[in-house]
Amino acid sequence: MLVRLMYASRAVPAVDQEELVSILKKSKANNHKSGVTGALCFSEGIFIQVLEGGRSAVNQLYNRIASDARHADVVLLSYEEIEERRFAGWSMGQVSMQRLNPALLLKYSECAKLDPYAVSGKVSMALFEELVATAAIMGQ
Ligand code: FAD
Repeated sequence: MLVRLMYASRAVPAVDQEELVSILKKSKANNHKSGVTGALCFSEGIFIQVLEGGRSAVNQLYNRIASDARHADVVLLSYEEIEERRFAGWSMGQVSMQRLNPALLLKYSECAKLDPYAVSGKVSMALFEELVATAAIMGQ
């Protein structure tokens, strides 16, 4: 039984590039062990993360992440049972904002700014899917 979950959150001010690297390093190590895959996007203080894997592994991880003091306003954007993974190549990929075409953001939102609180979960997921298709994800 595979599921895919997507959430958004706001990083606390102390989260900088070094903290992000530490989160990604820990995520890759833990997720590899539990069979979880996905991608993490961090832009202007906002996180969007997609997690996919076994239902209990993903649910337990989401509960752990949601209580992490390094972010707040955690909002569940999407949760679905799936037949196959979309992020199978990444224990936790990082969305490269440098390689993100602003036109892609404009395609899905009112301005070229990543704001998952202003769009539907469906729209945020569609954006992620295009990022995978355009190979704007690092850390395979
Ligand atoms: P340890 O690393 O030993 O940590 C023990 C405790 O300390 C945990 O409660 C942890 O939350 C807390 N902690 C550790 N470092 C810090 C710190 N610098 N500041 C504050 N508290 C800290 N983990 C994953 O395994 N997979 C993921 O995909 C994943 N994605 C994340 C995405 C975001 C946006 C954030 C903020 C965190 C993410 N984490 C992820 C980290 C997760 O919240 C836990 O910190 C981690 O899973 C705990 O790992 P551990 O059990 O090995 O405990």
